[in-house]
Amino acid sequence: MWAKGFPHRDINFRGGLGGSTVRLTNEQTGEAIEEMSLEIAYREAFSGAIYRTQDSDGQMVTYHSLSLDVEARQATLQPIPETSTYTVAESRTDTRILQDLVAPKQLKLNLSEEAKEGNAFLRLSWGEVSHSISGYQVLVKEYEQTCLNRKCVNYREALPGRKFCPVCGRRSRRAELTKVVDEVEFEQPYAIRFTTPITQISFDKTVNEYLQKCASGLLKGVESDSAIAGVLRDYPASLLGVHSFGHQILAAFPLVVLGSLNDVNYIVEARNSKDCVGYFYDLSESGNGSAEAIFRHLSKLARAGAALARNCDCQYGCPKCLILSGCPDGNQALLKQMGLLLCDAIASIC
Ligand SMILES: [Zn+2]
Ligand SMILES: [Zn+2]
Ligand SMILES: [Zn+2]
Repeated sequence: MWAKGFPHRDINFRGGLGGSTVRLTNEQTGEAIEEMSLEIAYREAFSGAIYRTQDSDGQMVTYHSLSLDVEARQATLQPIPETSTYTVAESRTDTRILQDLVAPKQLKLNLSEEAKEGNAFLRLSWGEVSHSISGYQVLVKEYEQTCLNRKCVNYREALPGRKFCPVCGRRSRRAELTKVVDEVEFEQPYAIRFTTPITQISFDKTVNEYLQKCASGLLKGVESDSAIAGVLRDYPASLLGVHSFGHQILAAFPLVVLGSLNDVNYIVEARNSKDCVGYFYDLSESGNGSAEAIFRHLSKLARAGAALARNCDCQYGCPKCLILSGCPDGNQALLKQMGLLLCDAIASIC
């Protein structure tokens, strides 16, 4: 085919909804900052959002979103000085499985240090993904005197100028605290709904019990007031394992299948506190092959994800191996070691 000008600019290379990526523009220079899927833009570049990213020199830069024009697929952002204030969208993502695309797979897993065998269940289906973003919270991180006694009502409450906690009497400490400064509700929630392939992964009781046992073992090995002990106490082992595993798979995704993290996302749903299910879904209407690639190459992805995490010099997970900017769960309930348990179990199958 032959055409004048630059027709390829108007063709959405990732398929599906035309022009579904949103361009983030610097209000002062008019330059493009980056592009992202509409789903991620709703959650991270809504009007009022504080948005952090790296510039071309690798420096962190902070912006304040002035507007998100959904029709024009454009967000306008103003550069602002580095701040301890940040925003978190009130969002909700739901997946609904409509129909299996191929026969489901059952994967036999060897769980290390146990002679036991567990099972993972993998399903590639046609399904519906819906997101709604109803508003956001403005939060600020600050260093302040506080009580670090977990049993005290003043735990992590600001105690400015106090040497001792007035409730439990313990010496106060300086720690990083998160304070909600404002809550904003949108007049009209942002909503998006599309049908696309979804790869679902779930685990049997043996695997979930294995995760629980490993989490208890990890907890014994760490300082009781450390941040990692807090994570292990606050979240169920199954959630930590299944969520971290999915992030490690996605971290390896661009290396293994040459796809982009703008093409696929991951969400975890709890059937109950001991049984969580992970869903990898394509970010474009009708799909782009990402969830299918994950379904077909899961053990290869698990090997690469485990290698990435192990070779990373962080202790409990960092943006290079675990934290993902588009996580619908706000990067809560993540721990490198817990994800590695499932990556290793899946990597061991051929
Ligand atoms: Zn106290
Ligand atoms: Zn890391
Ligand atoms: Zn996540």
